Amino acid sequence: MNHALLDILACPTDGFFPLDVHIFEETADEIISGILVCSKCLRWYPIRGKIPELFPDDLRDKDDEVKFLYRWQETVPKFVLEEGINLLTKSGSEPV
Ligand SMILES: [Zn+2]
Repeated sequence: MNHALLDILACPTDGFFPLDVHIFEETADEIISGILVCSKCLRWYPIRGKIPELFPDDLRDKDDEVKFLYRWQETVPKFVLEEGINLLTKSGSEPV
C-alpha cells in the first residue's frame, strides 16, 4: 500500500482514525508488510503483500492472522502481541 493511504484508513470496528502503523517491510513508496493498530480499541490489522486487510472481527481468519503476527514477533510492539491477540481470539470462536 502507498504510505499516503495511512491518511484515509480508519478502524472498521469503531471508525477510529488515524491508525498507527508498524512497518515490517517497505520500499521507498510502498508498505509491503506491517500492521495497522487502532489506538482506541487496540485491534490490529495486517498489511500483507502490500494490501491492508481491514476487516471486522467476524470476517477475520484468526488463526492465519495470529501466525502472521508471530512471524514478525521481534518487530511487533509487545502490547499488540499481548492485547491484540487476546482481542482477536476472545471475540469469536476458540483458536485451534
Ligand atoms: Zn478500533
